[in-house]
Amino acid sequence: MIEDDFDVLIVGGGVTGLVCASLLSGLLASHRPRLRIGVLEARLPRPLAADADTDLRVVAIAPAGREILAAAGAWQALPPGRRGTYERMRVWQAGSTPFGSGSIGFDAADSGAPELGHIVEHDWLRLGLWNSLAASATPSVTLLTDSAPAGLRRDASAMVVELTGGALLRTRLLVGADGSNSWVREQLQLPSTGHDYAQSALVTHVSSERPHGRTAWQCFTPSGPVALLPLADGRSSVVWSCPAAEARELAALADDEFAARLTVATGNVLGNLRVTAQRLAVPLAARHTHRYTGSRFALIGDAAHQIHPLAGQGINLGLLDAAALAETLAAHLLATRLADPGDALVLRRYERRRKGENLLTLAAMEGLHRVFTSDSDLLTRLAAAGLGLVDRLPLIKGLLADQATGLRRNRELHARL
Ligand SMILES: Cc1cc2nc3c(=O)[nH]c(=O)nc-3n(C[C@H](O)[C@H](O)[C@H](O)COP(=O)(O)OP(=O)(O)OC[C@H]3O[C@@H](n4cnc5c(N)ncnc54)[C@H](O)[C@@H]3O)c2cc1C
Repeated sequence: MIEDDFDVLIVGGGVTGLVCASLLSGLLASHRPRLRIGVLEARLPRPLAADADTDLRVVAIAPAGREILAAAGAWQALPPGRRGTYERMRVWQAGSTPFGSGSIGFDAADSGAPELGHIVEHDWLRLGLWNSLAASATPSVTLLTDSAPAGLRRDASAMVVELTGGALLRTRLLVGADGSNSWVREQLQLPSTGHDYAQSALVTHVSSERPHGRTAWQCFTPSGPVALLPLADGRSSVVWSCPAAEARELAALADDEFAARLTVATGNVLGNLRVTAQRLAVPLAARHTHRYTGSRFALIGDAAHQIHPLAGQGINLGLLDAAALAETLAAHLLATRLADPGDALVLRRYERRRKGENLLTLAAMEGLHRVFTSDSDLLTRLAAAGLGLVDRLPLIKGLLADQATGLRRNRELHARL
């Protein structure tokens, strides 16, 4: 028995799934008959108090990502006191100094931009998106939270999702936005390549003897990168990637001992550090799905690609996927009255727009990770020398900055959103 019928059903109401739903509903507001969009999400966003401490999971949002979030109405919903801004970035290798020959720096002022990016709490972003979809006066997005998907099959003109409890949802397009362990990817048996880094990212917040100066600091140590990201309240968020056993050992240290180790690992760049939050270890992996699309399905975000957090690109790539899919579908559906959102040829356009860049970013992060954690002294010395060299080549630095902010490639997309 079919319980509900959708044009587009998105499995996964994380940030990328909700942004995709919101952009699609906005871009297709003039479409008649009105399209039915559903979001099936297992985990409701938890309510957040205005005075709650900064959440442990923060993400660095590049300017291109911020523009997409603004188009989806999520940026405006973020309380201003909960968005950190970074205007500078310093990256160096352990043994060198943040301003020495083995380092590289980016400054927003060099490109005339007010900032390089923002540090925001993931859960505030998600809650804002969720609430704005739930509160919409003319809802074209249905949020389905009562049950989880249990089975998937195709019929002649749709995908049919069976829910726990037996109800059936029919959809002309199924979007997998269900994260790195994607159920949709698994059901469709889409092959992917990836590996576990045998590393974890240890996250916490610290206060520091010296101000962070709205700078994102990142030091490549032999066991992995350690970053201090500037929070709006003056503290810094720590993302310390290291072998899983070391992360367990670091997580078990007393606060003072951990802070002392972190102060040394970050080259004393902000002076003595003091731990102000609990510590959480997140296992790290990289994965890329060979095909993002096919007849009646598309994958976005971590369901399509999972990346090392060392350059903070994961959510930014997912936002670009969500915007590219929404825009491709809207252009197709608005051009032809009876157009089908599950048309494989149209979905392939979205895949072509995003796959190259996702793969390139994945490969770049993989390369950086391997070079800086290599056992070869020669390789790590060359890498440090390379950082210093690029720092003195303004044209190449400019290209790197464009890539990190995502603005150049997003300009065309942004103009239409
Ligand atoms: C330590 C760490 C630091 C990071 N820092 C950054 C950073 O600074 N910048 C950055 O860009 N990225 C960062 N990332 C990566 C970023 O968090 C992810 O890339 C991003 O959250 C992926 O978003 P998503 O919506 O694709 O997936 P997710 O956030 O995983 O969302 C998937 C959603 O699908 C739901 N779901 C899953 N399975 C089902 C199912 N069967 N049925 C229904 N719903 C389901 C889940 O409940 C969830 O809500 C970091 C990651 C880590 C681990």
